[in-house]
Amino acid sequence: MATLLWLQGGACSGNTMSFLNAEEPSACDLVTDFGIEILWHPSLGMELGENAKRIFHDCASGARPLDIFVFEGTVIQAPNGTGRYNMFADRPMQEWVRELAAQASIVVAIGDCACWGGIPAMAPNPSQSTGLQFHKRELGGFLGPNWRSKAGLPVINIPGCPAHPDWVTQILVAVASGRAADIALDDLQRPQTFFTSFTQTGCTRVQFFEYKQSTLEFGQGTRTGCLFYEFGCRGPMTRSPCNRILWNRQSSKTRAGMPCTGCTEPEFPFFDLAPGTVFKTQKISGAIPKEVPTGTDPISYMALAAAARVAAPKWAKEDMFVV
Ligand code: SF4
Ligand code: SF4
Repeated sequence: MATLLWLQGGACSGNTMSFLNAEEPSACDLVTDFGIEILWHPSLGMELGENAKRIFHDCASGARPLDIFVFEGTVIQAPNGTGRYNMFADRPMQEWVRELAAQASIVVAIGDCACWGGIPAMAPNPSQSTGLQFHKRELGGFLGPNWRSKAGLPVINIPGCPAHPDWVTQILVAVASGRAADIALDDLQRPQTFFTSFTQTGCTRVQFFEYKQSTLEFGQGTRTGCLFYEFGCRGPMTRSPCNRILWNRQSSKTRAGMPCTGCTEPEFPFFDLAPGTVFKTQKISGAIPKEVPTGTDPISYMALAAAARVAAPKWAKEDMFVV
């Protein structure tokens, strides 16, 4: 039996909502089939008041072994580093986080806010929010760059806004069954099994991406083209399995005609763009995307795009806007 404690800091509960939608395994399966004992969770915890506080104190002091500490949301440090903007069980949440992280065998950050600070950490960041071990792309965050759990591992980051339920449950099962050290992480401490390939992998519009043909409107079917050229799709620059491990087991943003907004990357939500242009591809000289797919450069991409447009077959241009 592996014990798990899940707390929320500066959070909207989106990752909890996503987790509760898990199906294979479900949150219940984690308990009944995979031996995870949920000591407390904001939505699932059975204990209230003093009884709940006793669990937190026992885990924080080491009196009760804590195998997995899951944190959702930012660590709020305002005002002036005291953390008193986010009180929980009589103390600033940041004090619970520091003590529980020190006692846990493994610490898992769920969602962008816990991983890198997410939306709350955007300038001017009045809550002084940060992630557990990153602040945006910079290693450090609340626990510091060299922090390691009792098992000797850094925080395992499962980003997303929210994280897909399967990403969460599969990692929790691996951790609970003693395989945490086998989870290969990338340089942002994300499990490589989910965050090595690009969101574009498996996208049903990719043939139109190849021939540089754009869809004209949001929400249109796959046959109408790619969302990269006019709607700012970040699929070629974002690492996630959203088109391999489908949402609700049936779809993804790009399949539904909405651009990927890059929610698994530390820079999300990319709101440094001019107002009204978040879903608009930024262009150089009116035609070439300002940001090109990861791994290429604007000049090479420009040459490829020109050739691809010339070579585009008739089927790729039907009913579409040619950029
Ligand atoms: S740019 Fe977006 S819509 Fe186009 S193929 Fe890539 S992921 Fe799909
Ligand atoms: S498609 Fe992009 S924005 Fe949507 S959940 Fe996946 S990574 Fe996030």
